[in-house]
Amino acid sequence: MVILIINCGSSSIKYQLYDMPGKTVMAKGLVERIGEAASALIHRRGEEKFEINQSIPNHKTGIELILSCLVSPDKGVLKNVNQISAIGHRVVHGGERYSNAMRIDGDVIACIEECCDLAPLHNPPNLVGINECLAALPGVPMVAVFDTAFHQTLPREAYLYGLPYEIYERYRIRKYGFHGTSHAYVTYRAAVLLGKPASEINIITCHLGNGSSMAAVKNGKSVDTSMGFTPLAGLVMGTRSGDIDPAIIPYLMSKQEYSKLSDIDQLLNKKSGLLGVSGVSNDMRNLQEAAARGGPSSRAQLAIDIFCHRIKGFVGQYLAILGRVDAVCFMGGIGENGVAVRGQCLAGLENFGIAVDPDKNRNFPRGQECDISRNGSPTRVFVIPTDEEGWIAEETHKLCQ
Ligand code: AMP
Repeated sequence: MVILIINCGSSSIKYQLYDMPGKTVMAKGLVERIGEAASALIHRRGEEKFEINQSIPNHKTGIELILSCLVSPDKGVLKNVNQISAIGHRVVHGGERYSNAMRIDGDVIACIEECCDLAPLHNPPNLVGINECLAALPGVPMVAVFDTAFHQTLPREAYLYGLPYEIYERYRIRKYGFHGTSHAYVTYRAAVLLGKPASEINIITCHLGNGSSMAAVKNGKSVDTSMGFTPLAGLVMGTRSGDIDPAIIPYLMSKQEYSKLSDIDQLLNKKSGLLGVSGVSNDMRNLQEAAARGGPSSRAQLAIDIFCHRIKGFVGQYLAILGRVDAVCFMGGIGENGVAVRGQCLAGLENFGIAVDPDKNRNFPRGQECDISRNGSPTRVFVIPTDEEGWIAEETHKLCQ
């Protein structure tokens, strides 16, 4: 069964074509800078890479170009687009309605539309992707896999803020949590590595990338997570501040320089985090190089220290919430590759049963799952390469076979 996975952003479309149930990747690629002069499609088939530079004025053209690439005699992997049996879409916000992936029908589309208000940057392009696929491949079943779904099991005391209850009732302001596909996949893999059913494991999952979030998972279900009403909350990220005292916002707005809401939005989402603290970069590798040059007192090192300190704080919080923790799991670009970051986040937690083995942390085959905990430590520490697209393919396959 051939399944196409689509992740539609405001100016980009990521895609991956799977042969299921074996989860073999047949082709994948990215349409980028839609609507700009330098728009392009980068298409990969195995080790081969093709770059098509042409005008891609809108998502409709982008989807058409992807489909024509998939069936092209020199770059493609299919004879005909009719071989595509189902399409899985990554959708950021499913609100309070969906705690699972859903076959897309009129109701699901209406709910994604309703949630545009909650995720104005993400749900509208996700909808465009769904509608363009519907137009290009009518009759092919489609599935929406929501980033928020995994966290719909949070109990009320974890998802409600200390605001008047009417604010929640009127505006649905609450913690939703994001990166759910990654936290769900890693929970499934951690259960396999621990040799137990997911319903019997308690773990802390740390998705550390340009966007970062953590989750406390009890008996296989998310019971708390660091992102909130939006993906701005929680950990310090590449360019996002993470949690700050909310009183900082009106205080800054009383100053001429930040008097506009759009300036505050830019400040917190685009100019803060690792970039804002370091003044160097949002990219962890660049920061590590800059810290190596600039030494322990450099702002690059300070940014890394703040990043790790915040993660350690959430580990402590989630240890308290979970009571017993079978494993701490790292995933995402930094979680999977950042040897020093992993070590620093968990340093000094031996009394809580968490100890990283420095040799295992440093020397394991990249791209593979690994247990990096010290022999005999009660809580395992896993590095698990995340696979959000593969998980969307699995969910789509389950609902469409
Ligand atoms: P993602 O958003 O998941 O693609 O992750 C991007 C982040 O992963 C960037 O901050 C990269 O610098 C970071 N990253 C990638 N490789 C490494 C590495 N070898 N060591 C530390 N950070 C890395």
